[in-house]
Amino acid sequence: MSALKTPVEKTFRAYIGLGSNLGKRLGNIRSAIAALEQVPGIAIIKVSSIYETEPVGVPNQQKFLNSVAEIETRLSPAELLTTLQRIEKHMGRQRQQKGEPRIIDLDILYYGQLVISTEELSIPHAEAVKRAFVMIPLLEISPNHIDPSSRKKIKEILSRLDISNQAVRKLDKSRY
Ligand code: ADP
Ligand code: MG
Repeated sequence: MSALKTPVEKTFRAYIGLGSNLGKRLGNIRSAIAALEQVPGIAIIKVSSIYETEPVGVPNQQKFLNSVAEIETRLSPAELLTTLQRIEKHMGRQRQQKGEPRIIDLDILYYGQLVISTEELSIPHAEAVKRAFVMIPLLEISPNHIDPSSRKKIKEILSRLDISNQAVRKLDKSRY
């Protein structure tokens, strides 16, 4: 290899969960994707369809729109979290009680095959594998992705998951 060649920075595949159940939900999901696209060090590889889902564990709330994006990034997990929180804030999300309606929620679902658990950051996202609104969009874009905690593919995890009480409906493409 030529000594003059610029070293290629290490990049990682990561998956971001997007959710909105307040305001213009579809516009919020789109704006968040557009904002992610603008971040130096993040390239969007794939975005799932948008799904309308029942809020989990919080009754009497507007339904969510959810999607999952696959990205390639050279940001560290901590930098990625800060970036997602900056986008949430910029879009007007107020820090709130857990389970309250939100303009936009951006979660790191996976970051390569990394497994970490600190106070600020758990990767894989602690609830992801139990949630149909995460696993169904993930199945659409990356059925063979391996969950590093269970070492199972997304399609295997989902096939064993009881999601009968979690309504998830794919939005008609013509609506967005
Ligand atoms: P929710 O659990 O509903 O997504 P928040 O978006 O308010 O709630 O997140 C609460 C905290 O979760 C954040 O301050 C963040 O530090 C922490 N967190 C832990 N793991 C993750 C992750 N994988 N992605 C995003 N946030 C995470
Ligand atoms: Mg969150």
